[in-house]
Amino acid sequence: MTKIGVLALQGAVREHIRHIELLGCEAIAIKTIEDLNGLDGLILPGGESTTMRKLLDRYRLLKPIQTLAQQGIPTFGTCAGLILLAKKITGFEKSHLGIMDVVVERNSFGRQLDSFEVELSIPSIGDDIPAVFIRAPHIVSTGDNVEILATFENRIVLAKDGQFLGCSFHPELTEDVRVLQYFINMVNDYTKSSRTTVNSI
Ligand code: GLN
Repeated sequence: MTKIGVLALQGAVREHIRHIELLGCEAIAIKTIEDLNGLDGLILPGGESTTMRKLLDRYRLLKPIQTLAQQGIPTFGTCAGLILLAKKITGFEKSHLGIMDVVVERNSFGRQLDSFEVELSIPSIGDDIPAVFIRAPHIVSTGDNVEILATFENRIVLAKDGQFLGCSFHPELTEDVRVLQYFINMVNDYTKSSRTTVNSI
């Protein structure tokens, strides 16, 4: 069974776990380095990125996650999770994991009270996809190899950089699992190709 870890230090953890299980995969709540063993994919949830960063440092998970990423594990960051992934954060000197080739700006759609839900048309995924934005970041610019998958009000809100998928919104707060299914397909492609490599040695 495909095993997807969800960083479980803070934020929308249970909602991701529910979506993962709805798609017939095994969800693992990640709290320690040991929990990272044997994963096929990893999700960094929404929440508050500076708090999550402090907890990543406290639980010594920053480096191990960077190492997993170097090994090629597909990783999906939603909202604060996207901020954790980004190589650069507008107005801040340092990034967090700094592994996805995008620049993000925090809180670019207004304050907490300005949370809103829209329906997005995402060519590689489908139409009428509900997207909940909560003090959401957006992607300001992308590196050459990054695929822009969705925009909202001329701002990039979903992008893929090889094994990394990042979105501004919270797909896990809706009943629609198509964005997660897209990520699970990335994970399945990765496990197939890494199996092929091992078999062909
Ligand atoms: N504004 C939050 C941050 O900067 C992200 C909000 C969210 O994940 N819903 O971390």
